Amino acid sequence: MTLNLTPIDIYFGVFDGQEYSFRLTEAEARAAVESSFRFREPDWSDPDNMYLGNHWAVDDDDRGWKIVKRSIPVLKYQGQFRGAQNEACHVSWQCPACDCWHDEDVEFDAEGPILGRCSWTRKHADGQAIWFLVFWTPGGGEDNLST
Ligand SMILES: [Zn+2]
Repeated sequence: MTLNLTPIDIYFGVFDGQEYSFRLTEAEARAAVESSFRFREPDWSDPDNMYLGNHWAVDDDDRGWKIVKRSIPVLKYQGQFRGAQNEACHVSWQCPACDCWHDEDVEFDAEGPILGRCSWTRKHADGQAIWFLVFWTPGGGEDNLST
């Protein structure tokens, strides 16, 4: 299957070379890192310590959080909005490579787009994750299946 992909810049929250979050803007990526439960001083007295630290790396050799920008090919996708005012709302989309459905909670009046990723790489022909830039009609419009 050939997907029509468009490269966009994606900002990753990275610690020690490991990616923990991804967002569409650098500011959102920083906010995602700082609101993560991992963004705390490690507790070495706890053998199950899950905290990585609350320090931003100043240069490349520095240990700490970094925001790394990468150009990633994404599939632009018209998602389906479900929900209503003052209810839980979400946008869903289907991976065309493996038919898996994904969804993301959104606010009723959120406009998007949002970034998504299908990581069922064993089901993808090239073994790679597929990235999505998901658009939808705010509030669902006529497509809102709950009305
Ligand atoms: Zn998939």
